Amino acid sequence: MDQLWATFISGKSNFFLYAVVPAIVVTVSYLTGSFASWLIERAPSQQAYKIQKKLHAGATWRECFRHVFFHKLTSEIPLTFAGYPIFVWLGVSKELPLPGVVEVLAVLAASFVIEDAWHYMAHRSLHAKWAYAKIHHIHHKYTTPFGPAANFAHPLETLYTGFGTLLPVMILRPHLSTMLIWVVVRQWQAISVHVGFELPWRPSRWLPILGGARFHDVHHQKFTCNYAPTFIWWDRLLGTADAAAPAGRAAPERAN
Ligand SMILES: [Zn+2]
Ligand SMILES: [Zn+2]
Repeated sequence: MDQLWATFISGKSNFFLYAVVPAIVVTVSYLTGSFASWLIERAPSQQAYKIQKKLHAGATWRECFRHVFFHKLTSEIPLTFAGYPIFVWLGVSKELPLPGVVEVLAVLAASFVIEDAWHYMAHRSLHAKWAYAKIHHIHHKYTTPFGPAANFAHPLETLYTGFGTLLPVMILRPHLSTMLIWVVVRQWQAISVHVGFELPWRPSRWLPILGGARFHDVHHQKFTCNYAPTFIWWDRLLGTADAAAPAGRAAPERAN
């Protein structure tokens, strides 16, 4: 693996490794995660696990992708590029040796905790009357979430909540390879909580501190609860967890 990494970074500029590669990785993660959610949504065997009955037509998926790719060009990729000099300045290393599995897992766990705290506060502030009307209502267009809708948002919201993905990197200063894994895992996790299915193999079944798809689905139905993207503790602690539909129970469906 070390040899593979050495070949990968050999002769590459810092701009390519710290800006272009993360931008490609985040986009490919979005596409693969969206494709997986499309497979789940179209598989007859998975329909028993659908949280709300509504299935979105192909036109809705196309509308979502058009919007997301426009805003990737105008906000997400510029944000990624803006992170490049910060990463280099902070000393995010690209050099060998690569970190071990335990170190990578520890960084990922800590990154989720940091991102979740930022995202909870940012997301909750976006539900203030002005911010909701001007910015956040776009993400709430779909009251029945589906995978690619994870990134369906106003560009300012992407910059604001997306900063939560950069924040753990700035604090923890992981190896570049770990940073790229974090970007992939965080993107897939965001899609997984919008997938609209409570799948039997979901991690939240085994780790009840995770909110999971149903937790975030209820946010899209009710708007004023379950703000955290990953863990349930901020909503429980600050009194914004949905009282009517705690983990494992659905809120009534609402027409989209
Ligand atoms: Zn959402
Ligand atoms: Zn919201």
